[in-house]
Amino acid sequence: CGIVGYAGRNAAAPVIIESLKKLEYRGYDSAGITVLGNGIETHKAVGKIINLESEVPKNLGGTIGVGHTRWATHGRPSTVNAHPHNSAGNPEKISLVHNGIIENYMALKERLTEEGYVFKSETDTEVVAHLLHKHIYGSPNGKEARYGLIEGLREALKEIEGSYALAIVSADEQGKLVLARKDSPLVIGLGKGENFAASDVTAFLNYTRDVIFVDDFETAVLTPDSVEVFDREGNPKEKKIEKIEWDF
Ligand code: GLU
Repeated sequence: CGIVGYAGRNAAAPVIIESLKKLEYRGYDSAGITVLGNGIETHKAVGKIINLESEVPKNLGGTIGVGHTRWATHGRPSTVNAHPHNSAGNPEKISLVHNGIIENYMALKERLTEEGYVFKSETDTEVVAHLLHKHIYGSPNGKEARYGLIEGLREALKEIEGSYALAIVSADEQGKLVLARKDSPLVIGLGKGENFAASDVTAFLNYTRDVIFVDDFETAVLTPDSVEVFDREGNPKEKKIEKIEWDF
């Protein structure tokens, strides 16, 4: 239902939780967060953001992360089905949040299961985490990245049918937040030494009013100091920076 992302220099968890609260009005059944600290650190809870807050350690480190409020479409509301969903690997490599529906998730899940990927949730979303892992690391036990996160994502998206706004982090690419969109809203917020992503600008209006709307089939890479947007083929794209003048 709602996604948020943060790439900055401050602790990511409090920013992400505050942003998730701004999206509460849309309704949701569970919520979760991943920060890149000592690798991937994920916390989830059913019900209100308050429940999630009590799961998240107060001193949780990490200045890059993603968060989600879920409105279940595939798989009942539960902690396991809450986002973020993490890929295979021990420790886990990739963590992502998703709005939308992966229409061909059953076929992908069958194939990935045959290839040794173990699914923990009943969601359509989890296939994206494992498919992305497969493209980058080759197999569930693959340790060496053969492609970067953004290259792997571009290949994985060719196999995905349906709608998505995705925000993704990887333990092997510490300084980055990666985004993708098709048929589900996604907007980037430009700060100073920090950048934001969300399904809805209200999530980060307290931090910035300078935004870039991500269009279908675009991907993006955010670091604390840069925002790059790419077209379907991976070519860099000039995007218009818009100012949000209205108040919510
Ligand atoms: N289809 C996904 C799920 O059921 C995402 C739902 C959402 O957009 O909140 O987990």
